Amino acid sequence: MMDVLLLGNGAMVPLPGRWLSSVLVRLDGSLALLDCGEGTQVSWRRFHWGFKRLDAICLTHHHADHVAGLPGLFHTVSNAGRTEPMHIYGPPGTIEVIKGLRVIAQWLAFDMIVQELEGGDTFELPSGLQGRVTWGDHRIPVLAYRFDLARAPGFLPDRAESLGVPRTKWKLLQRGERVEVDGRIVEPGEVLTESRRGISLGMVTDTRPTDGIRDLMHGVDLLVSEGTYGDDAEEEKAVSHKHMTFREAAALAHEAHAGALWLTHFGAGMENPRQWERNARDVFTNVELGYAGLTGRISFDEGYVPAGPTDRDTASLPESADSINAEIAPGSPT
Ligand SMILES: [Zn+2]
Ligand SMILES: [Zn+2]
Repeated sequence: MMDVLLLGNGAMVPLPGRWLSSVLVRLDGSLALLDCGEGTQVSWRRFHWGFKRLDAICLTHHHADHVAGLPGLFHTVSNAGRTEPMHIYGPPGTIEVIKGLRVIAQWLAFDMIVQELEGGDTFELPSGLQGRVTWGDHRIPVLAYRFDLARAPGFLPDRAESLGVPRTKWKLLQRGERVEVDGRIVEPGEVLTESRRGISLGMVTDTRPTDGIRDLMHGVDLLVSEGTYGDDAEEEKAVSHKHMTFREAAALAHEAHAGALWLTHFGAGMENPRQWERNARDVFTNVELGYAGLTGRISFDEGYVPAGPTDRDTASLPESADSINAEIAPGSPT
């Protein structure tokens, strides 16, 4: 079972009531963080998932709204008592970026193992999640991530009994080993079900929709995707700035047969994302507009189930950011 927590829904800069859109994934207590913009640790702290078990960070690309929160977070994780190495994944250049950010975060109690990935690469997170990446289409190299957890085949005790396998040997068969019973070999396949569907999560941000991403995300239980622009009329801007509209992200989820979609990375100029929700829902109904504290659970038996905010008192949808946006110089989202 995998728990997913959205730490924010913003793009470009953190705003009051709108943290940048990083995602935390928890599996058996092990945490993986997907992107880390400025202020990510502040949002994180509200949800009490702890910092010490941050075993992995996956970076989509090196724009500041996805990496600038790292040095402060490194200190916090170190202060939380972590001594085990932390694994960091990202596109080419990640080693240099981390090295640069470490200039202001030198003394940490844990080591870092940085792995640069190319589109098509696969890797395994410390939690056992299987990662796969493909290139996106942004102004700088960007990776889209998919994480899978395989499910072991089920054990059929009735079958084992009818074959006369003593209970003491069931474990071996479950582990995929063959056993001998009265001179006859029993194969694991005789007492196990067919392979069963696992669970999966996709993270797509700062990219145009591409065929490669659609293929990689095929059948994911939950797709977390950027929707930098809500208004269909801004599609041209989405094309030139290499982002997506709500409608485009929803089409991606639909075409990839995703189970559910979380929209995030709302452009700082989008005052009220709810206003445009319909543009996504027209195309893909199981969509949720992201907010800090949005939580979901993906389990073998149920697939994706929304779990609501982990902290109902403090997690709320951002209100209209009118006054805030007035202070932000118009620029292109990163
Ligand atoms: Zn970007
Ligand atoms: Zn961005």
